[in-house]
Amino acid sequence: NWAHVEMAPPDPIIGVTEAWRADPDPRKLNLGVGAYRTEEGKPLVLACVREAEAQLMADPNSNHEYLPIAGNAEFCRLARTLALGGDCPALQGGRVATVQALSGEGAGGGNGGGRRGEGVCMARTGGGGEGRVATVQALSIEGAGGVEGGRRGEGVCMARTGGGGEGRVATVQALSGTGALRVGAEFLAAHLPSTAPRVVYLPSPTWGNHKTIFAKAGFQVREYRYFDAATRGLAFDGMCADLASAPRGAVLLLHACAHNPTGVDPSPQQWARILALAQEKALLPFFDSAYQGFASGDLDADAASLRLFVRSGLELVLAQSFAKNMGLYGERAGALSVVCKCKDTAGRVESQLKMVIRPMYSNPPMHGAAIAAKVLGDARLREMWRVELKGMAERIISMRRALYDALYERNVPGDWSFVLKQIGMFSYTGLSRVQCQKLVNKWHIHLTLDGRISMAGLSAQKAPYLADAIADVVAN
Ligand code: PMP
Repeated sequence: NWAHVEMAPPDPIIGVTEAWRADPDPRKLNLGVGAYRTEEGKPLVLACVREAEAQLMADPNSNHEYLPIAGNAEFCRLARTLALGGDCPALQGGRVATVQALSGEGAGGGNGGGRRGEGVCMARTGGGGEGRVATVQALSIEGAGGVEGGRRGEGVCMARTGGGGEGRVATVQALSGTGALRVGAEFLAAHLPSTAPRVVYLPSPTWGNHKTIFAKAGFQVREYRYFDAATRGLAFDGMCADLASAPRGAVLLLHACAHNPTGVDPSPQQWARILALAQEKALLPFFDSAYQGFASGDLDADAASLRLFVRSGLELVLAQSFAKNMGLYGERAGALSVVCKCKDTAGRVESQLKMVIRPMYSNPPMHGAAIAAKVLGDARLREMWRVELKGMAERIISMRRALYDALYERNVPGDWSFVLKQIGMFSYTGLSRVQCQKLVNKWHIHLTLDGRISMAGLSAQKAPYLADAIADVVAN
């Protein structure tokens, strides 16, 4: 019955690891892997994650019941607040008077909790005194999660976006970043205004799955220029020209930071221009945030592009993954948020996101989201996470330096400074397909044939070997 079924092509990224596994050469190196590795080439389970997991396991009240369709609500609140940060401008109006009324209550939270809670209370109870106790309770739990960011007003955003449909951001738990993108794409295909084209603009190149995800959801996929092979940097003028000629209302996919596969991100000035273009053409930004904190080691810095857009008042969509920054790859912990104009809309949007999820997989898995919620929601674990995340980011940055220095020492022709300038887990080397094939076959260095190398797969010990190999394939 299935005799007619043709063999599907192997996944270009997953296939690299399979080839690496099968390679018997002891010098072999896996630079295709999209996951963090230690200096010894081993997967890393963060200590904060181990501890959160141990606490969850020890909880006598834990169970394996279903989560709601939208997932773990506390995880959703904490995740979106991590991304959006504390300075939500939509809350500005009329807050001050309420603050004063509530500061006494906030102070009752004690130990700095008051300070964090204060902004929250203003936002949430701006409308009146009723229900204030519930508000304070809810926020003291959230506020406890805020270490750094919390003090800067993290709670405000939670309030604005907070549980029970209080704010104007609808968030659902998702099957990591991929699931968030897919549910987001399906939602947009069904609910963009009828006048908006079902067209999505993706950077060229982009993470391969983007194309398939949007195409499967019924979008016409178009590309905007992104990578400039000559400079191995951003093709900014081309990008702007392509966005300027996009049809009004098209969806614009943007990597929030650490663009995959190129490692090239726009500068703050360039982001401002991209925002202006999105506004001029009424494009709908869809941020893919798979590397927050993993790129620079600073969670706020890595969310700056997204926050710039949210602050401008644009409606947008956000897919978040905790695969890389918490090392929760296989746990599929992610979130999808839709930033709306008002709370009323957000409630309706959330109801429709659930309608997308229900027939797809009914409800998401609990474990990864519970771990992430614990880490984000507990001040001590969160601080541990911040330090560990910075450690991962710094190791990757130090691998860039190690590779650059080794190439420099070998006088490899060309300007390799892009290795230092590119950001995040990947470096896009500009090596040709033939050169990549030689790296694989002669040097047992496994990578995708587009020349992308994972800096996370490299170690100080192996950097000279990689530089020898690159020197060889460049010269011959
Ligand atoms: N977006 C980008 C840009 C990515 O690089 C990845 C992972 N490679 C994802 C989304 C999705 O990852 P996950 O589904 O594991 O969260």
